[in-house]
Amino acid sequence: MGNKILFVASECTPFVKTGGLADVIGSLPQALTKTKKYDVSVILPFYKDMIDNWMDQIEKITSFTVEVGWRKHNTTLFRLIYRDITYYFIGNDYYFSRNGIYGYDDDGERFVFFCQAVVDTITELDLEIDILHAHDWQAGLAAAFAKIALPTLDLKTVFTIHNIKYQGIMQKDAYQDLFNTPPEHIGGMEWNGLLNCMKAGIFHADKVTTVSPTYAEELKTPFFAEGLHSMITDRQDDFVGILNGIDLKEYSPLLDPHLPSNYLNAGPGKQKNKEILQQKLGLTEDPEIPMYVMITRLVEQKGLHLIQAIIDEFLQEDVQFVLLGTGDDEFHRFFYHAEERHKGKMVSYLGFDEAIARQLYAASDFFVMPSQFEPCGLAQLIALQYRSVPIVRETGGLKDTVTPFNEYTQKGNGFSFSNYNAHELLHVLKYSLSIYHNEQKWHSLMRNVNDSHFSWQESALQYAELYHSLAETKSTVQRSEQN
Ligand code: ADP
Repeated sequence: MGNKILFVASECTPFVKTGGLADVIGSLPQALTKTKKYDVSVILPFYKDMIDNWMDQIEKITSFTVEVGWRKHNTTLFRLIYRDITYYFIGNDYYFSRNGIYGYDDDGERFVFFCQAVVDTITELDLEIDILHAHDWQAGLAAAFAKIALPTLDLKTVFTIHNIKYQGIMQKDAYQDLFNTPPEHIGGMEWNGLLNCMKAGIFHADKVTTVSPTYAEELKTPFFAEGLHSMITDRQDDFVGILNGIDLKEYSPLLDPHLPSNYLNAGPGKQKNKEILQQKLGLTEDPEIPMYVMITRLVEQKGLHLIQAIIDEFLQEDVQFVLLGTGDDEFHRFFYHAEERHKGKMVSYLGFDEAIARQLYAASDFFVMPSQFEPCGLAQLIALQYRSVPIVRETGGLKDTVTPFNEYTQKGNGFSFSNYNAHELLHVLKYSLSIYHNEQKWHSLMRNVNDSHFSWQESALQYAELYHSLAETKSTVQRSEQN
């Protein structure tokens, strides 16, 4: 098996980010390159915000026409070599020159275009690629189109599910309107009478992965798989969960330029960040008061209904609570009013801000993540790096990375609860507070936190093994012929 891999994704740090997918696409290629076994490049849409920030550094390499059904779109391809990785950006004003990156009525069409443009880029540039690795629904059709349109290239495909909640669903008649693949291929892209980009990726890819071993098991059940569990179990021989890592240099409290006070472990250096942030946010200035923080997309998945149910009671304690997030209006309204009720103890910072996020990881004592489900979760891994103790619900990657502290054995790097229940969360929050106030137990817990590192090293090797195993896989066509 050759060693040239093309990552296809809709976001990637440092160019564009709404969540953890961007962190993964920004760091896994570097980790794979470090194994010296793989040469990874990345292809992304060229969104408006990126044009503003990166235009002077990138190079225009070619233009061509991409067909989306009857539409013919002028498309410009840009390239940037950044930290030894080659990035390709697909530029088209009609689809991507808009504010933000998702949430438009024609998102389905936008990513049909993107995936078609990815496949056209491979032929236009005559790119030598051995493996196309597509991430999440926005890239699912790239795996499908590549298999269908480029059968003569011995191209293997991998599809990674980062979050099955978002599937890229369109009405079935969009197939005729937007797709250039022959009608007989609709079966591989359709699910329950609708077009489904995530299903298309799962169906067509030679291997399917997800981002933690526990989520891989959960996805085989109707409760977690959002209707796709039978599709997953059909592919279970080719399906594996590989835990995400983080770039420990990028997320280092010792090197982070966003922090007023750099530090390695918890102590006066970390405490200084708390003091400065308390002042900046108008919280009571007292470094002894424990600070609980959430940094999250404001969507139901993140356990926000549990927070809604208990926040007033929890804030009766001598604690501070800061939320940084953006998302659904329902939660914007709730957190806005909660701050009003608890001035001086609670701050709701409603927006997306990388610098504030880093300052909060550094200032906080606890990081709260009571997710309903969590494919992997990177925020708790970042929190551990910044020596903020994660408090999580036992699901998906949270279960794989946070071990509850046991005050008798002194083992564990955080706190967790099992059922999606607000009082279980409240109970564990209060328990965490009691440990915070017990010097000896807190010290043991912090020692375990200091030793928790989730780098890419181990997981990159697992991806390398997976890529290696692709040499023996049969193509999709052979698979469906056997069924
Ligand atoms: P998800 O991918 O579901 O959003 P993850 O925990 O995997 O959740 O990743 C979230 C990433 O996005 C983390 O890097 C986190 O720090 C960042 N993040 C989330 N919300 C914000 C925000 N409002 N401002 C800055 N960074 C944020």
